Amino acid sequence: MNKPSDAGTLATVPLWIDNRAQPALSARRGDVTNPATGKVTRQVPLANARDVDAAVASAKRALPGWRDTPPLRRARILMRFRELLVAHHEELARLVTDEHGKTLPDAMGSVQRGIEVVEFVTGIPHLLKGEHSPDVGSGVDTYSLRQPVGVCTGITPFNFPVMVPLWMFPVAIACGNTFVLKPSEKVPSASMRMAELLKEAGLPDGVFNVVHGDKEAVDALLQHPDVRAVSFVGSTPIAKYIYETCAKEGKRVQALGGAKNHAVVLADADLDFAADALIGAAYGSAGERCMAISAVVAVEEVADQLVAKLKHAAGKLNIGPGHDKGVDMGPVISRAHRDKIAAYIDQGVAAGAVAVLDGRGFSVAGHDAGFFIGATLFDRVTTDMSIYRDEIFGPVLVVLRVKTMDEAIAMINANPYANGTAVFTRSGGAARKFEREIEVGMVGINVPIPVPIAYYSFGGWRNSLFGDQHVHGPEGVRFYTRGKVVTTRWPDDRALPAGFNMPTLG
Ligand code: NAD
Repeated sequence: MNKPSDAGTLATVPLWIDNRAQPALSARRGDVTNPATGKVTRQVPLANARDVDAAVASAKRALPGWRDTPPLRRARILMRFRELLVAHHEELARLVTDEHGKTLPDAMGSVQRGIEVVEFVTGIPHLLKGEHSPDVGSGVDTYSLRQPVGVCTGITPFNFPVMVPLWMFPVAIACGNTFVLKPSEKVPSASMRMAELLKEAGLPDGVFNVVHGDKEAVDALLQHPDVRAVSFVGSTPIAKYIYETCAKEGKRVQALGGAKNHAVVLADADLDFAADALIGAAYGSAGERCMAISAVVAVEEVADQLVAKLKHAAGKLNIGPGHDKGVDMGPVISRAHRDKIAAYIDQGVAAGAVAVLDGRGFSVAGHDAGFFIGATLFDRVTTDMSIYRDEIFGPVLVVLRVKTMDEAIAMINANPYANGTAVFTRSGGAARKFEREIEVGMVGINVPIPVPIAYYSFGGWRNSLFGDQHVHGPEGVRFYTRGKVVTTRWPDDRALPAGFNMPTLG
């Protein structure tokens, strides 16, 4: 049970139901904290089943009208929403930095990637086009339709308060569905601002709703008979739980989980280029990215040189509050998470890995209560160590040494996570072999964080995604629509004989 830390004096974030801010019925509250100061800034309601019911009922009421709105008109509302997102780009990014802690330029970039999903779905009339085959039999035509699935829900993580919700609801709404978003209770404010902007763009009442909360709200959504499809992004154990529960409840589901992303550095790589790329990919957003590189797999010949370059660059990082100019890396999300990361560093040292840089005990002058931890670099890590096996989700980069690329590929393919990976090389042949043999959903060739652009789909393999469809892009459109095939015949005056055999039409 969450205990409000300063209830009474702090504002409570409302829910968003029927296109307006509404207080929650639930009395449970959580704290929203500024990670750079460690101060609680507002309260968030932890919704109960009655709150969820109200949001789903609103989405259900809105469904018939929205489903029957021509896709072009739906697209025009999303075009206006896109213009409003652009106009409020920095305001949204500031909310991200306030509640998540990442630097403002990084937050701006993440909002931009979300806006690009809205741009993609403004082409929804084209994306929903079906197929048509005339004369599949004498006087018989067949065509396919894609129709909305109904009320959809999105459950999102703390690390991308704007971008990850934007992976989901613009696509769902463009396809004619209505939506209930359950953002991370740690970062609730940006979702509320997006709800206001959707209203300003002309979205009808009930098409988009927001409930805040924890497991209680999530379970109420998963068990609600009127929720037809669930998109989840978060950690692997919860993703698996969401997938299993939805399978039991008969709901369509895509559940994206955690990651341990490897970058392979081959002997012919440009080591300066690779080291620069890896520093940003490992320590950007304090390592709290599902596409962060957290493991470097270096071939032995270049490992010493690479580690020296990584040490030099990581040692110079400017760590501080995300709103300050020139900062490379902000705090992590919470005190508990900072302590968990430090405990992993303890384990790495105890297991015999070489701590080239040790971020424990780091603090920022004037921000002693902030959740800061320094950049950490381990060398000579082995696959049995917890710093390699587990997703740490912090600024901890581990280096493993191998003799050949085949060994690197085997190591990556044996890891339970399979979100993203990268290879650094000057050889087209090696890159091609890597791309074909690696069993990971998103692959970068000399690109450390290969996040697909909005008109491709985003998703990992194995424990990084449970479900069949990736998010946004063409697979997002397929996830939020159901296929239907219509076979038509328009009889003329001739009476058709009754048929008792399997119809062959021709
Ligand atoms: P989390 O799994 O703790 O929470 C995600 C969502 O699930 C939140 O909305 C939370 O309220 C809800 N939740 C938490 N515990 C729950 C429970 N027991 N039952 C039901 N719902 C529950 O994840 P997080 O800490 O917010 O985010 C970090 C994780 O998300 C990392 O593992 C990261 O790799 C992953 N992530 C993955 C992707 C991806 O695309 N694969 C993208 C971003 C983040």
